[in-house]
Amino acid sequence: MAGRIQALIRVTKHIGEQVAKPLRRGDGPNKFRLSAMDTATTTYEGDDGWAKRPPAILECPRCGGEIPQHNSRDDIDCPHCVAEFGYREFPDLELKHLTCPVCRSEMTHGQRHPESFDIVEWATCNACRYHWEFKHSYS
Ligand SMILES: [Zn+2]
Ligand SMILES: [Zn+2]
Repeated sequence: MAGRIQALIRVTKHIGEQVAKPLRRGDGPNKFRLSAMDTATTTYEGDDGWAKRPPAILECPRCGGEIPQHNSRDDIDCPHCVAEFGYREFPDLELKHLTCPVCRSEMTHGQRHPESFDIVEWATCNACRYHWEFKHSYS
């Protein structure tokens, strides 16, 4: 009886070694997988051009409420009062933030040429790395 148990232990130990060996050999492929992941994080999603501008939240100059504008060509209608603006009036309104079209987070936005354009020129999502760029055509 004791001999059988010892044999069983010997077999279990043997199997253990068999499993451990491929795991140890896995160090190489694991490193490769890590570098592949690094590559994936540097290629983020993004768009450029005013037509592809992410949805915006503007401040209503009449009531101070938030006006959502789903895309750059939508009319800007305040849902809280009677104020209505055309999309061309976008630069005259106070931009609160842009909304990430991928994950709906609030985006960080800014300007690159505040001396020549009074308009948002880039926006980045810190949550999913989506990036939007105005990309002016310089002449
Ligand atoms: Zn309003
Ligand atoms: Zn996002």
